[in-house]
Amino acid sequence: MTILERLQAMRAGDVPTHGGRTLAYVYDSGLRDADAIGREALSMYASSNGLDPTAFPSLLAMENELIDLAAGLLDAPDTAVGTVTSGGTESILLAVQAARDARTDVRKPNVVMATSAHAAFHKACHYFGVERHMVDVDPSTMRADADAMAAAIDSDTVLVVASAPSYAHGVVDPVRPIAQAAKAAGVRCHVDACIGGWVLPYLDEPPAGPWTFAVGGVTSISVDLHKYAYTPKGVSLLLHRDPELRRPQFFASADWPGYTMLNSTTQSTKSGGPLAAAWAVVQHIGSDGYAQLARDARSGVDELIAGIATIEHLSLIAAPDSTLLAVETDDACDVFTIADEMLDQGWYVQPQLSFRGMRPSLHLSLSAATAPHVPQFLTALGKAVDAAVASGPIEVASELVEAAQAIDPATLDDAAFDGLLQIAGLGGDGTVGMPERMAPVNALLDAAPPALREALLVAYLDRLTRR
Ligand SMILES: *Cc1c(COP(=O)(O)O)cnc(C)c1O
Repeated sequence: MTILERLQAMRAGDVPTHGGRTLAYVYDSGLRDADAIGREALSMYASSNGLDPTAFPSLLAMENELIDLAAGLLDAPDTAVGTVTSGGTESILLAVQAARDARTDVRKPNVVMATSAHAAFHKACHYFGVERHMVDVDPSTMRADADAMAAAIDSDTVLVVASAPSYAHGVVDPVRPIAQAAKAAGVRCHVDACIGGWVLPYLDEPPAGPWTFAVGGVTSISVDLHKYAYTPKGVSLLLHRDPELRRPQFFASADWPGYTMLNSTTQSTKSGGPLAAAWAVVQHIGSDGYAQLARDARSGVDELIAGIATIEHLSLIAAPDSTLLAVETDDACDVFTIADEMLDQGWYVQPQLSFRGMRPSLHLSLSAATAPHVPQFLTALGKAVDAAVASGPIEVASELVEAAQAIDPATLDDAAFDGLLQIAGLGGDGTVGMPERMAPVNALLDAAPPALREALLVAYLDRLTRR
């Protein structure tokens, strides 16, 4: 076998990136030409370095063009500026870091966010020593509760977050009152449009209220291109309303004998490949193309909503505002078994564990390439539900549930984690593997409090990545 044949063989074990059968992690336009141009640009620029825009002015030009395009989509004023980052998480890290560093007067900074905000904000708070003020969502809509968010802002708040839409439930928060409250308190407001930012502006009838820079008080917005702009992985945009808001994001160091380091993002050396690929794909698809892709994905979602309504035992967690949604079950079956049954039929859907009174659910992000196959998806889903009802919901032994509630993960040593991973079905006899069926593992994790879930999965990852 040649090296490339070996790569092909290895890749055959992954979930497919194209064909529309993977409803999380990957986004497929179904446009083969766009994919080919993206791959070509990616390899053309693979060895270039965005570290120094004066050495690679073509990368600077592409970055400015992408930001300019996004500014138009996001109703940004002429003063708006932006940066290309490596992904949604990096855009969010930088928004939190800039907000913290703009307020050196605050000793214990905090971010006010709904419980539906993306976990990337938790990571940012963890990295940058910022407190999280988590506010429960309105349980009837899963949207942020604007009044409760406003009430959570205090004199140490450096950033207020809204989602457009949230990843877990696909609903757009009431951005206007949230941003107004932030503005009244003199605090920045970030809109996380990582997953919706390249779809919502293209829909004829955006199904939610305003969420762009048209809303006064919105100071920054993140939009991922590697989601609904259908570009190769590694590109997101972070826009700020004006250059002053962005300034603390930049970092320079002349305090060493090498080149003066000057960075707009957390990376220093960074491949120009993803940026060039994004630029090329965005040029190729164009705004008419994106409008069509957004309409296709949205009509697929509408078809999905109608189909799910006819499947007994399933219901939507919330009416989705964009092209992603979350489905839950009644007590006759569980979502984890359904996910396994779907995988057996060649469809990947993403389990979401229960959280603060919310039931576990299945996340479906619908790509344009999935839209023509929604009828087959619904047939498979119906079968998966039948199978899950026939086998019944997975029961986790009550002793195990009680034990899980009582464990303090901070007190566990390596051997204890080995034992727990074995019980969870994630390893044993000193080996770890990928279980055949994920449902028993997910059901057990679901019974554990979030801190134990985190600790167990970190232990699992640690063992997966040992030699
Ligand atoms: C995907 C996503 C992120 C994180 O983006 P990555 O590209 O995975 O780092 C943040 N917020 C929302 C709403 C998202 O959908």
